[in-house]
Amino acid sequence: MHYDEGIERSTELLRRALPLMSRQAAGLHPISYAVWYDYVAQTNPALHAAVDALIAREGQLDESSTRELFRQHVADMDAETAQRMTDGFAQVLAGMAQTARAADDQTASFGQSLGRLSAELEAGAEPEPAALAEVLAGTQQMQQAMGQLRSRLNDSQREIERLREEVRRARHDATVDALTGLANRRAFDQQLAACLVAPHDAVGPCLLVGDIDHFKSINDTWGHGFGDHVLRAVAEVLRTLAPGDCLVARVGGEEFALLLPAALLSDAQALAEKVRQRIGAARIRRQGSDETVARVTLSLGVVLHQPSETAHALVERADRALYAAKAAGRDRVVTL
Ligand code: GH3
Ligand code: MG
Ligand code: MG
Repeated sequence: MHYDEGIERSTELLRRALPLMSRQAAGLHPISYAVWYDYVAQTNPALHAAVDALIAREGQLDESSTRELFRQHVADMDAETAQRMTDGFAQVLAGMAQTARAADDQTASFGQSLGRLSAELEAGAEPEPAALAEVLAGTQQMQQAMGQLRSRLNDSQREIERLREEVRRARHDATVDALTGLANRRAFDQQLAACLVAPHDAVGPCLLVGDIDHFKSINDTWGHGFGDHVLRAVAEVLRTLAPGDCLVARVGGEEFALLLPAALLSDAQALAEKVRQRIGAARIRRQGSDETVARVTLSLGVVLHQPSETAHALVERADRALYAAKAAGRDRVVTL
């Protein structure tokens, strides 16, 4: 799942997430924020359902349930990173609060000196030089305090930016397959679930699953490193052929999935056929050599989502189509 909302939308999400987040028993830290951000964004139905169920049962989320929701539905983050980010945000906030309090105290005492001076002036008295000096000194202190507050806020902003980057990177690592750069299984599961709860247009979501044929023997013959090279090459073909709204994921060792959120079955079939032909026609070379070492083929299963079919059932049906393609001799597309 990606954070690609613009500033306006994310500000709106922030506005909606904050009150929900502050009603819980968990601390106001980035882990908690990430959970409630996804909740109000409604991009993660499994998380949404889990939060609703927990609130219905327990009344509110506590520290451990929040962390568990984060771990299960947002990102697998190691405990150390999570702790570091939480501490980081807490420190930034505490620092800002402290500086703001100091500036506030300064303002209050300045206000008192001004009040005394103004009372003297109103009473028609010549202002005491000491009172004037006090006000002057107060003005300087105020300037200093405001300067400190400003520079402290600038520091905090930089620090928050750094922490945001860290959250972003952790999120990226949790949803992207490191070998191919495609979405990983977790991202695929999340987007499939999101796609199924979204209201369907006239055309429903279609799912393509593809599995490289005899990949084990490619590994055995040319080595695991070459196998990885083949996986990246196949990923590249999928990325190139997939239309803009299509999610391309590596869902297993040599298994890929393409999710078309709104497509006709015939379009999905045509895409699968194009993918199959392009991969079969590609000649994959060994890096640094002109020798063509392997002809790679892909078997594919294609399905159209049926009304009220669960994500699990849809994937199972696509797998059945894939196995039928394997059983029929591989390097082909089967639609169920
Ligand atoms: P089939 O046509 O029936 O799909 O046969 P297959 O050999 O492709 O299927 P099988 O499931 O027997 O083997 C899959 C192989 O994929 C075994 C495993 O070592 C290899 N594999 C899984 N992940 C990776 C990876 O990340 N890199 C490489 N190089 N190989 C991988
Ligand atoms: Mg396989
Ligand atoms: Mg295979």
